[in-house]
Amino acid sequence: DAEVVFVGRSNVGKSTLMRELTGHSFETGGKPGVTRQPNHFDWASEDFMLTDLPGFGFMSGVEEDRRERIKTDIVEYIEENAERVLVGVLVVDGKSVIDIIDRHSGEDEIPHDVEMFYFLREVGIPVVVAVNKMDKVDDEDERLNDLCDRLGLHPPWKQWQDTIAPISAKRGNIDALNEAVKTHLHEQKRDDL
Ligand code: GDP
Repeated sequence: DAEVVFVGRSNVGKSTLMRELTGHSFETGGKPGVTRQPNHFDWASEDFMLTDLPGFGFMSGVEEDRRERIKTDIVEYIEENAERVLVGVLVVDGKSVIDIIDRHSGEDEIPHDVEMFYFLREVGIPVVVAVNKMDKVDDEDERLNDLCDRLGLHPPWKQWQDTIAPISAKRGNIDALNEAVKTHLHEQKRDDL
C-alpha cells in the first residue's frame, strides 16, 4: 500500500492535523512520549494510507534516552518502508520553528527538524513541510522565507509551494498541504507510467 508519513516534534499540532485529514478522533494535547507505535489510517479522499509517527524532540517529563529511542524508531520505520512511502510530511509549529532551529544550530548540532528534512530527502522521499499554527503568525512571508533559508531552499518561499505548506490545522485551513501532497503523488504516478 502506498503511504504518506507524518513526522514532527511533539506539540506542533500533528494530532489536530491528522484528525482534520482523516475525521478520526486523536488524542490531542495528550501525554507526550507515550505513543511509540506508528498509527495507520486511510486518507478519506485518496487511495493511500496515512501513517502518524510518534512526536520527537523535547517533551517535558520524558527522559533523554527515551526521546532518543523514539527518534531512532522513527528513522528505522522510515528506512524500512521508504520504498512505499510516497511523501513525508514534516509538521512544524510556524510560530516557534525558526527560534527552535536557531537555538539548536551549532558546530556539532543539527536541529531535529532540519535533520529530519534532510533524512527524508536522503532516502528518496519527497518532503512537504506543513507549517502549522499560521493563525498565530503575523509576518507570514518573512517567516516562511526564513524557514526556506534554514532548510537550504532559496527564498522566496512562493517558489517552493510543493514543499512549504502554511496551514492552520485547528482552523481546518489545510488546503496548501493537500495541494502540495497531491503534486508529489501525481508526479510519482507519471513517473510510473
Ligand atoms: P501534537 O503533540 O503534535 O499531536 O499536537 P496537538 O495536536 O496535541 O496540538 C498541540 C496544541 O497545539 C493543542 O493545544 C492544539 O489545540 C494546538 N494547535 C494545533 N493546531 C493548531 C493551529 O493550527 N493553531 C493554533 N493556534 N493552535 C493549534
